[in-house]
Amino acid sequence: MRYEARGTSGEWSSHGPRITGVRARLRDWALAPLAAAQRVRRRVAYAGTRRSCPVCGRSSRCFLPYGIVPRTDAMCPQCGALERHRFVWLYFAQRTNLFDTRPKRLLHIAPEPCFRDRLARHIGAGYVTADMRREGVAETMDIMNIPHPDRSFDIVYCSHVLEHVPNDRAAMRECARVLEPTAGWAMLLVPITAPHTDEDPSITDPAERLRRFGQGDHVRRYGPDYVDRLRDAGFVVEVVRVADVAAPSAALRMGLSAAAGELYHCRRAVDPATTHHAIP
Ligand SMILES: [Zn+2]
Repeated sequence: MRYEARGTSGEWSSHGPRITGVRARLRDWALAPLAAAQRVRRRVAYAGTRRSCPVCGRSSRCFLPYGIVPRTDAMCPQCGALERHRFVWLYFAQRTNLFDTRPKRLLHIAPEPCFRDRLARHIGAGYVTADMRREGVAETMDIMNIPHPDRSFDIVYCSHVLEHVPNDRAAMRECARVLEPTAGWAMLLVPITAPHTDEDPSITDPAERLRRFGQGDHVRRYGPDYVDRLRDAGFVVEVVRVADVAAPSAALRMGLSAAAGELYHCRRAVDPATTHHAIP
């Protein structure tokens, strides 16, 4: 399985050709002028002020449609950020310590293209990107067995990955384990697409997974009870909605529609019996 960015959209796929690090760097170098020309063309084509992207800070006349069933007002034409990316970035900026100047260690699993370079520039040496098979990340790892000691990170950010992971409860416990227990926090996001979580490990056929779980490499659909799984893994969870961080007019300008979903801000729970931050 690989959790790979599909183009600049920030969507993840378990498919696609494996490209070696050297080949990827050569390809990026060769395509850089084309990408720069494309960016300029988009800035001109979508010039306007009706929409504003909190990720890249640029304004546009509209966001682009995106999705298998295309959603309007979805993707920033400048940086590729989707609704959920703009929401989480706004939350990071408004309500977390991510962008203060103190040194921190951030584990970014399956890094989204629209975030990766920005976070790398801001965090510096403490920024660790990881993926199961994808090239271009700092570490190749299985989220169910994170190869770092306890308390290694101040922040763990992992979006739209757990719906691909066979043992998501183990992955959640691993994210809690490597988190600094007092001030550390994690943002573990999944699509909520069912009234209750639906999974069946016996389903391995991609066509059946597509039918039942919405994508050929998804192993479940999550419902609102996702939060209970996070709590079972040893987290205290704050559920954040768009209205918590943006007035309706600002949400419209940033394209934070219902597709932005909810955010799950997680901290390590304290065991009242021991006052230790225990992992179940
Ligand atoms: Zn943008």
